Amino acid sequence: MRVLAMALMLLLSACTRAPEPIQHQIYTFGTLVDITLWGVSQAKGEQALAMLTEDFARMHQDWHPSEGGALAAVNERLMHGEAADLPESLLPLVRRSTELSVRSGGLFNPAIGRLIRLWGFSNEFAVPTAPPAGAEIEALVARAPSMQDLTLEGNVLRPKDDAAALDFGAFAKGYAVDRAIERLRGLGIEHAIVNAGGDLRAIGRRGERPWRIGIRQPRGKGILASLETRGDESVFTSGDYERFFEHEGRRYHHILDPRSGYPAQGATSVTVVSRDAALADAAATALLVAGPEHWVEVAKAMGVSEVMLVDGTGKVHMTPALAARIRFEVTPAPEVELSESL
Ligand code: AMP
Ligand code: MG
Repeated sequence: MRVLAMALMLLLSACTRAPEPIQHQIYTFGTLVDITLWGVSQAKGEQALAMLTEDFARMHQDWHPSEGGALAAVNERLMHGEAADLPESLLPLVRRSTELSVRSGGLFNPAIGRLIRLWGFSNEFAVPTAPPAGAEIEALVARAPSMQDLTLEGNVLRPKDDAAALDFGAFAKGYAVDRAIERLRGLGIEHAIVNAGGDLRAIGRRGERPWRIGIRQPRGKGILASLETRGDESVFTSGDYERFFEHEGRRYHHILDPRSGYPAQGATSVTVVSRDAALADAAATALLVAGPEHWVEVAKAMGVSEVMLVDGTGKVHMTPALAARIRFEVTPAPEVELSESL
């Protein structure tokens, strides 16, 4: 009798499980977020997708630096040198990004909102056409805003002066992807990918196989390399090709070196593999700023051990841990320089 009941249960679950992954796209954070679920019923899949659609819309509204949401209101006060009450939706972002900013030695610096706005990179719908005046850049850099200048007491964020404005563009996507995965797990979903424009976290497997992830070429089209995820992993890439413009023969991209006020030089893309998507996102940005000469020290300080950096000549700099599992998808494979083990 028990065997029969078990067999019936298995049969039922087989009927309600989708044989193919359920896939859905949500447009948010200025990008398409692809949600892929494996091994869930159509009904559960729809429930999950509705929940994530709502979540992402709320996060985008709350976290956008200048679009009339919660962060925009906070920035308005900070830019007048006034203390701001942080809503619940922003507290964890401020705490976590401060910790990561300190660990990155200030290369990941969400307090440079004024500089990002000056360049015109805070508007995801428009790419600027010319760099701002050098004197304006220098004036903002001289004020050296940092997350440590903002003191958090309870939910009150007090600035040292009016130099800092917050921009979570380098990290909010990772944070949101972590939250989405948590929500899916809360619904009992164990096999999924949340992919925000190529930056993703994957849990579980695609049936019998692991999830296989592509890393795009920083120059030209197509995939540079691929990798199979293990259990629960995030893969985040920062690149100078994502948002940029050309002016008088020079290329200006959206990842700024807080020390110079200009787009970071030396690396064209950095990929970080880590369990934690928020960490991977912040680290990818920080290591792109650090460049081919200094990325290893910053990776150590941030606690990431699987990193690939492509430099301006197309050469790949990589940690041995990532080199051991990545597969190049281009021929000939690029020249690779391995770092020490991290
Ligand atoms: P990502 O693609 O994750 O590297 O994030 C790039 C975005 O982060 C930019 O569009 C800016 O909004 C913001 N950003 C640029 N430079 C920095 C930096 N050095 N630290 C923190 N955020 C930055
Ligand atoms: Mg980032």
